[in-house]
Amino acid sequence: MQEMHPAHLDDLYQEVILDHYRNPRNHGEIPNPHVSSRGFNPFCGDEVFLGLNLDANQKIESVAFHGQGCSISQASASILTTLVKNKSLPEAEDLSQLLRELLRGKELSDDELDQIGDMEALQGVRQFPIRVKCALLPWATLDDGIADYRSNISP
Ligand code: ZN
Repeated sequence: MQEMHPAHLDDLYQEVILDHYRNPRNHGEIPNPHVSSRGFNPFCGDEVFLGLNLDANQKIESVAFHGQGCSISQASASILTTLVKNKSLPEAEDLSQLLRELLRGKELSDDELDQIGDMEALQGVRQFPIRVKCALLPWATLDDGIADYRSNISP
């Protein structure tokens, strides 16, 4: 069995991040989204606009983002859109929580790693606190949007 050198793993993560940055998934804007939010990270000028539409069962039917900033923030947003589609809002919040734990250094179980997909590539930023903010920005934006949505629909 070949042992994987950490440098190779870093290269692999780098490739995943650059692929999402160069070919962002679900890039664009949803007209009149049910959930929408803007996130801004003053540390490196990252900006993310996120929009979601919910279906009759309150699952995320469509999701889109646009914005500008560093490759980490935009790749994280792209990965987010691939992961939250067809999820309920609480499930999306769970994913957000999982990413926070991953970036705080928690070792995730195989089951958790399956759930987070390409987000695994973002763990390379753990040793750079400024970059952690970049990676979390789209997820914090998602959490804010969901909180706004809930406060608007509750009587
Ligand atoms: Zn950034």
